[in-house]
Amino acid sequence: MSSPNPIRTIALNNAAVAKDFKPKYTLPYIRSRPVSVIISCVDPRADPKDFWAIEPHGVPGVIRNAGGRAVDALRTLEVLSALGTGLESVAVVHHSTCGVGEHGIDDEYVREKVKERRKGGEDGSGDVDGRRFETFKHQSVEESVKEDMRLLLAHPLFPEGLMVLGYVLDDETGVTTEVFLE
Ligand SMILES: [Zn+2]
Repeated sequence: MSSPNPIRTIALNNAAVAKDFKPKYTLPYIRSRPVSVIISCVDPRADPKDFWAIEPHGVPGVIRNAGGRAVDALRTLEVLSALGTGLESVAVVHHSTCGVGEHGIDDEYVREKVKERRKGGEDGSGDVDGRRFETFKHQSVEESVKEDMRLLLAHPLFPEGLMVLGYVLDDETGVTTEVFLE
């Protein structure tokens, strides 16, 4: 017998959760407020509900992706800037021993692995040569945070005066330290 799928196993928890469920927010409430977003890594060690003790799907919103890179979050931020009373603040959080950071894998490694495992395709969609995967092995975690802060501040579709913050999370101590652009 094959082992149970890990996500289906987790989804079984829903029965107990839904039993006493009370919605915390309504769409009118969300639309009445400015939008603040935290961008962080998908790594389980880099979960804002742990390092900043916030609710996992509360306010502010959380976008998580490989490395906590701003470029992956752009589409969502663009949509959110039209929701509520607009995008007010965005925080970029990268963590000290990220798997796609200076102690982890680089773009070339990702490219090779993707090539090995891809299904192929005749439309060119399987081509990965030249694709950027936004690993940051080549720079310090402070530099990658600053790079993402600059990218967000320069984005033409975001409002003038958007507050862009940056932090480094130390995986060992759990301490977050704010990073400032010069
Ligand atoms: Zn990470």
